[in-house]
Amino acid sequence: MIGFRPRAWETAYRRRRRRALTEVPYYREHGVRPTPIAELLPELYRLCPLARPWRPEREPSLWIGDPGPLRDALVSAGLLRRGLPVLEVREALVDWRRVGPAPYATVLAPDADTGGPARRPGLLQAPAELASAAGGALLVGGAAELDRLEPELGVPVTRVTRSGGAGGLLLYDRWLGYLGTWREECAAYHLNWRRFHARRTPGGVSLTALDRRRPTLVDVLAGLPTMVVCAAHGRPAVPGQAFSVQ
Ligand SMILES: [Zn+2]
Repeated sequence: MIGFRPRAWETAYRRRRRRALTEVPYYREHGVRPTPIAELLPELYRLCPLARPWRPEREPSLWIGDPGPLRDALVSAGLLRRGLPVLEVREALVDWRRVGPAPYATVLAPDADTGGPARRPGLLQAPAELASAAGGALLVGGAAELDRLEPELGVPVTRVTRSGGAGGLLLYDRWLGYLGTWREECAAYHLNWRRFHARRTPGGVSLTALDRRRPTLVDVLAGLPTMVVCAAHGRPAVPGQAFSVQ
C-alpha cells in the first residue's frame, strides 16, 4: 500500500474544493469555509452534486455511509479477522452483510427507537446468534453503550470503543464516521488520510471527505482540536493530549 504523500494529499483536497465550488449547490452559494457539521446536517439536498441529486424517495439518508471506513479502522487497529463477526452499535438497522472479510450485524443502541421495548430482544437476536456461532465477535460502540449492551447480548465479545475525543480506540464522529485509530506508541490517533484530508484552522481541524461526493463534505469542523504529523510514522495524527487542553 502506498504511504502518505503530503503533496498528493493537498492536490486531492484542492480538487475536491474546486469541484464543490462548481458542482455542489451548497458550496456554490456559501463558498468553502470551515463549517461545523451541525450546520450541514439539514443540507443533504444541496450537498449533492447537481448532476447526481439526492432522491429521498428512492435512497436512504446519505449520512448512513458505507462499511469501508469501519473496515479501515478495524484493519488499522489490527482487529479485523476473516469470519470474526463485527457488531456495530447504531441508531437504526442497516442492510450491510459484511465488513471486508467479516460478517456484519447492527446492534441497536440502548436508546434507539424500536417501536416498543418488547421488540428489542428480537432485534438483538441476529447479532447475538452471529457472535455465538462464531465463538466471539467485535462489538463496536461508545464505552457507555458497550457497558449496557454486553450483558444484554449475553455472548462473549471483544469491546472496540469509539469516541469523539480521547478515550476510545477508534476516533469517531456520528455523522462523518470513523476518522482514525489510536496508536498507543504514538499517543495519538492516526487519521485515515485516504478518506479524509485534514488541516488546522482557528476553529479546529477542518476535514474534507476525499472518498465521497454524496454528500460532498469540504472543510467540516467535527470537534478535533488540532493535528500534527506523527513523528514516528510521518502521517497526519491527532495527539491524545490535544483533547485535554481543549
Ligand atoms: Zn504514529
